[in-house]
Amino acid sequence: MKAAFPYMGTAPIALDGLLRTLGAEVVLPPKPTRATIELGTRLAPETMCVPFKITLGNMVRCLEAGADTLVYVTGSWSCRFGYYGRLQAQILRDEGFEFRLLELSHDRIPAIINEVRAMNRGRISSAVVNGLRALRTGWLKSTSVDETEACFRRTMPTASDPGACRRLLAAMLEEIQIADRPAAIKQVRGSARERFAALPTNGRTRMPRVKLVGESYCVVEPFINFDIVARLGEMGVLVDPFLTAHRWLGFHGFRLGKDEVLRMRALSAPYWRYCVGGEDQNSVGQLLLAAQDRFDGVIHVHPFGCMPGTVVQPTMAKAARDTGIAYLPLSLDEHSSETGILTRLEAFVSLIEKRHRRENGK
Ligand code: SF4
Repeated sequence: MKAAFPYMGTAPIALDGLLRTLGAEVVLPPKPTRATIELGTRLAPETMCVPFKITLGNMVRCLEAGADTLVYVTGSWSCRFGYYGRLQAQILRDEGFEFRLLELSHDRIPAIINEVRAMNRGRISSAVVNGLRALRTGWLKSTSVDETEACFRRTMPTASDPGACRRLLAAMLEEIQIADRPAAIKQVRGSARERFAALPTNGRTRMPRVKLVGESYCVVEPFINFDIVARLGEMGVLVDPFLTAHRWLGFHGFRLGKDEVLRMRALSAPYWRYCVGGEDQNSVGQLLLAAQDRFDGVIHVHPFGCMPGTVVQPTMAKAARDTGIAYLPLSLDEHSSETGILTRLEAFVSLIEKRHRRENGK
């Protein structure tokens, strides 16, 4: 089996490790570019949200690279995400591609177990052992990526050479990707703090803090959000994304972090009673939490054409006004311009820096 799956941020590093340990060959697409988004936009229905278009473009690249099985998480949710797999498969077959669609959903667990068994030549004992090894590898890689990215976010605002900080992140992610034994993965994870701490600093001791909230793909994928975490880091801002690739896999893949979901539901209840998707309830709750924790601002990223993301925006603005926290909504799609987004970010940073200095007596 040559498997490919939709691609988001650094999540493929863990998923690649997990599937390879299970016995599958994995075809990873090149990172998204303008060409990927243009390809997806040409094939997708016009009003579809931008994550659909980018992942569709990715899947074409994977099929061209030899993938014969496309793996999707599918289901029935309030937004379109649960239908991505079936709709993309239909579009790709209409384009003449031949492949097998493998749907991962709660009601297909026996079929998924059979797939794992088939990858292990029908032997249940090997399937169980390899399944456990695969979960361990995936978990170790995912936590290692998360720890490395957290070190990067903390270091970037104080790095005297942001380029060196970016290069270290890229090098460490590659090391995690190629590490194939648990000890090697742990070794990279264990070295993250020390390696980032060794980078020269610019002497800055205080920095504004911004919470990044919004739709999962826009928060986690740097291509669509114009690398917002690193860009703000270069401007001296510490960014705390409410979701990372690791947390996304935990929340949505393995239903971890239920307490946090319940907490966000309770916090957001005065403003937002029902979850309609697109991390709407989480975003409102996280904005209120950021205000309580005295963050300097909240940036809300969502795709243009994303129903939940668009509908929740006025509520986010109201909650921000009520709590007095600075709020910047950014609607993203294939037409968004880097210059336009950067200009808005610079203006926002200038505003929160002024407030930060005023409130900290400097
Ligand atoms: S949350 Fe929005 S962008 Fe994401 S799949 Fe649903 S509708 Fe599309």
